[in-house]
Amino acid sequence: MGVEFLFERTVAQKIGFIEGNMAQEIYDIAIIGGGPVGMFAAFYAGLRDTKVILLESLATLGGQVTSLYPEKTILDVAGFSATKGTDFIAALSQQLQRFPVDIRTQTTVVNLEKSGNLFTVITNNGTSIQAKTVIVATGKGAFEPRKIQVAGVDNLVGQGVHYFIKNKHDFDNHHIAIAGGGDSAVDMATMLSHIAAETTLIHRRDNFRAMEQSVKTLMASKVIRETPKKILSVSKQPDGRLKLRLAHVKDNQQVNDIIVNDLIINYGFISENKTIQAWAVQPKLAGQVFAVNQTLETNVPGLFAIGDASHYIGKADLIAIGLGEAPSAVNAAIRCFDPNRGGPGHSSSMVLKDTIVRND
Ligand SMILES: Cc1cc2nc3c(=O)[nH]c(=O)nc-3n(C[C@H](O)[C@H](O)[C@H](O)COP(=O)(O)OP(=O)(O)OC[C@H]3O[C@@H](n4cnc5c(N)ncnc54)[C@H](O)[C@@H]3O)c2cc1C
Repeated sequence: MGVEFLFERTVAQKIGFIEGNMAQEIYDIAIIGGGPVGMFAAFYAGLRDTKVILLESLATLGGQVTSLYPEKTILDVAGFSATKGTDFIAALSQQLQRFPVDIRTQTTVVNLEKSGNLFTVITNNGTSIQAKTVIVATGKGAFEPRKIQVAGVDNLVGQGVHYFIKNKHDFDNHHIAIAGGGDSAVDMATMLSHIAAETTLIHRRDNFRAMEQSVKTLMASKVIRETPKKILSVSKQPDGRLKLRLAHVKDNQQVNDIIVNDLIINYGFISENKTIQAWAVQPKLAGQVFAVNQTLETNVPGLFAIGDASHYIGKADLIAIGLGEAPSAVNAAIRCFDPNRGGPGHSSSMVLKDTIVRND
């Protein structure tokens, strides 16, 4: 820890500002990305009484959950036996309001610079924000659905063909087909089968790449499975419904047609991190995301990455994992600018009565 940094911290803490052309606030922690993981990190930073700012590109918080699967039932977050995407983000938002956090939506971080021990976060709105530490929670960057490669389908998006579900009740009593075989497609088929008149799942393999229990639920449901099949063509019928021509994956001559009101494409998402690639500060990457150590710190001191934006051996891109990483990163960030603060702890922290000393 440099002396100049400690001096800077002391002065900044006393007056809350530094001198410059314009007086500027210095945040303890700037969190980039307002998905579930960034939201929880911001709450936890508030709980630890730090001066924190949360920056999010989109108009609303919630990341992939809000943008890609607001209606999906999430089963693997501690404390919720089953929760709808929007309800989970609403609960995180409520928790986030408990302590003061400066939240700026519609704010994309276009550059990150570091001078001495201070970061400058530059946004698309032209503002520059100074912070002692930065936690990147940008997920895998901007994302879009993987498109179906069938001629003419693009023209039918919004006219029966969907890549997103905003409200599941749009499909009440409809005949629907879902294309895909991953977690999300399987869960969506099971969920919609309760409200749709008929649900068909089309997948090019006989096996589904989903959680074991989700596959069991699917198999026990009334979802019709069309496997191993691909979609050869999609056309609009005179009555407005869609005719899907399906073929066996190994034999284009072995075809059958199904008529549905809606086709939901669920082939996953592709993302790109171009914005981050343009930053001046360039920490070591692991693939497209940031390589981090056990405290979620990148190889740039004071710069942390959590959630889908980070990678280490054994990492899984799950909400539960990112929610666990958030407090670790915040606590490690605090140790960077306030090494004497100690913690984290709570009033009833367990203390081991007898300490066993092991020499192995
Ligand atoms: C269809 C689907 C279903 C899923 N189901 C589950 C499930 O059931 N259970 C589970 O645990 N996980 C599930 N996941 C994975 C889960 O959604 C992710 O692990 C989780 O969203 C990661 O959260 P995050 O906050 O790290 O990133 P994200 O949710 O990706 O949020 C990142 C945020 O950062 C913002 N951002 C990006 N770049 C910038 C920038 N330069 N400046 C400012 N803001 C920026 C983005 O706009 C975004 O809001 C699913 C994913 C998908 C796609």
